[in-house]
Amino acid sequence: MIEEIKNRNELVSVVEQYVTLDRKSSANYFGLCPFHREDTPSFSVSPSKQIFYCFGCHKGGNVINFIKEIEHVSYPQALQILAERAGIALPEPDDEGWRKRSELSKRLHETMLEAARWFYMQLIGGQGKPAQDYLRKREISPATAKRFGIGYAPDNWDALLKHLRAKGFSEEEIDVSGLFKRTKQGNLIDLFRGRLMFPIFDVLGKVVAFGGRVLDDSLPKYINSPETPIYTKGRHLYGLNLAKASRADNLIIVEGYLDVIAMHQAGIDQAVAALGTALTEQQAILLRKYTEKIIIGFDADAAGQKAALRGLEILAGKDMDVSVLMVP
Ligand code: ZN
Repeated sequence: MIEEIKNRNELVSVVEQYVTLDRKSSANYFGLCPFHREDTPSFSVSPSKQIFYCFGCHKGGNVINFIKEIEHVSYPQALQILAERAGIALPEPDDEGWRKRSELSKRLHETMLEAARWFYMQLIGGQGKPAQDYLRKREISPATAKRFGIGYAPDNWDALLKHLRAKGFSEEEIDVSGLFKRTKQGNLIDLFRGRLMFPIFDVLGKVVAFGGRVLDDSLPKYINSPETPIYTKGRHLYGLNLAKASRADNLIIVEGYLDVIAMHQAGIDQAVAALGTALTEQQAILLRKYTEKIIIGFDADAAGQKAALRGLEILAGKDMDVSVLMVP
């Protein structure tokens, strides 16, 4: 099984998802090492031997070691990622409950992806005009909007519901997706209506939930997905799926979706947001996997300062080097 996973995940193509490689005259490919900071490439990949080696930090190994290092996951998790990438079914525990849960979470990931696609199509289509105007006002470029999968939920009671049913998603999947709510009469309606939509990605880049913002001053300003079988609040950091590839030696925690997006657009690609004002223990543990150095960049208002102080405490408890960005 392990051999098959290795055979079906060609190392150069896997590495190229993370590192830009150049084939020099030699038999090896070279690129900037993703595991240490450098300006000249000393990270090599041998297509014939299917191994990588860095002449700078001396990290090396096969495709499984590479995924383990770059995704900060355990060996079994690395195998899982590569098996999924190659479309290989790993043997599953002989347990009906486990099998059902795993099947449902797979379908929920597909539901979220389809919803994200649909929200994006609404944004770029004719009825997305108000959302397009809003993004223009906030100086978010169309390319940035696409990169973050920003979308638009039209002001309609059941447009997404109809779309997902037409796409063949089951009533159970629709019911537990967190994308809908029940009226007093027991009918399902779209939870997000007339809102700018931000897909929330897990660290591997899968959509697990959404945040939706109004386009005017009405309240509530933000609605977020409730917890679902694939989304637990306080366990994700918005933007970490992109920020983890930053070459900076720190991560900057900012308050909201649009703060993260604006910073990435400005080239500060190590920004993440805590999704809710207070940083949680789990988020601190997650951050610690990627960096020791954190900069907190919350708003200068009272709520922002209070949240910054709380975050400081949690991060200091995880033995991290924390500083606070003061914006006048
Ligand atoms: Zn290196």
